[in-house]
Amino acid sequence: MGSAFKIGRIRGIDVKVHWTFFLLLLFFGYLGFQESQSVTGTLVTVLLVLALFVCVLLHEFGHSIVAQRLGLEVPDITLLPIGGVARLKSLPEKPWDEVKIAVAGPLVNVVLAPIFFTLAFLIGVDLSTIPSLITAQQSTGGALFYLGTINVALVVFNMIPAFPLDGGRVLRGLLATRLGAVRATDISAAIGQALAFGLFLLGLLGGQIILALIAVFIFFGASGETQMVRQREVTRGMSVADVMGVRRRTETVTPYHNFGQVLDLVVHGYQTDFPVVEEDGRLVGMLTRAEIFAAVHSPNQYRGVRDLMRTDFPVLSPEADLFTDGNRILQESGLRALPVCNGGNLVGMLTVDDIGQANLLRDLRKSR
Ligand SMILES: [Zn+2]
Repeated sequence: MGSAFKIGRIRGIDVKVHWTFFLLLLFFGYLGFQESQSVTGTLVTVLLVLALFVCVLLHEFGHSIVAQRLGLEVPDITLLPIGGVARLKSLPEKPWDEVKIAVAGPLVNVVLAPIFFTLAFLIGVDLSTIPSLITAQQSTGGALFYLGTINVALVVFNMIPAFPLDGGRVLRGLLATRLGAVRATDISAAIGQALAFGLFLLGLLGGQIILALIAVFIFFGASGETQMVRQREVTRGMSVADVMGVRRRTETVTPYHNFGQVLDLVVHGYQTDFPVVEEDGRLVGMLTRAEIFAAVHSPNQYRGVRDLMRTDFPVLSPEADLFTDGNRILQESGLRALPVCNGGNLVGMLTVDDIGQANLLRDLRKSR
């Protein structure tokens, strides 16, 4: 999330606040002043907004702590004017884990609500007019009662089965135990988007702009999450070793080959990038199509592999994840092929063609 300030770190989780949150404080401070015409009233209103967001933060910590217990990394929680977002580094793999994490947030508010109500009634509250955020500053009981209702609202709103709200995650987790992650995500995202559309209309017709904005947030959140899950499911477990040189063995050259011998390999083979290997099997360089083609038209062609090869290139591990690591490193290198080494020994080569084949396979699986 861009433009968010870090305000602290709790249990290894960065707590961040989006800058628009400060606008929200100013806005409600202004409304509080209009209502109370006093500095105290203004400050209490601002404090109430802060207290409300502490409840949201505790809700997010509910998710985060359960996620951490289940072995997932939670890098940060960001507070936005429309609520909080606890970012998980990866999605939970087991459907029941997702349900547990999703339920933990609202559960915090289920615990908080009766505490605020009890305190409000102990102190005394006049319920002839139900306190709102703006009027709650008039009495301590009213403020506490207001915080109780906010916690109820947080439970009710978050349990709407609209993805990516908690209710949507619970729905997906429950569906996934029977239908598998992809179908469960598709179904819950469709339900979520239909509900988001309904909320959007409701917000527009009822003049509730915040509700309409939240609906837009839900709508796009759902499609982003669907893609993430699909990507994960169709590429699950594919490693560099699964695709490298599956269709052929990798030809290598030594630093002592001359250019004529290399050209011979290019013309009579189907390989244009060659790992350069010493006689003892050590990988010492890469001779790529770029160097070979450049040398054809230059006096360089009279030189040996040692003079032409590049020595600065990444090496892949056969166990590396194909799409997250293999493909990324290959793309970043700007080369068409990278050597794959196991403990310093060349075991193969990953090429852009291999990635292309794997993509085809992936699309096939996807369409199934
Ligand atoms: Zn939540």
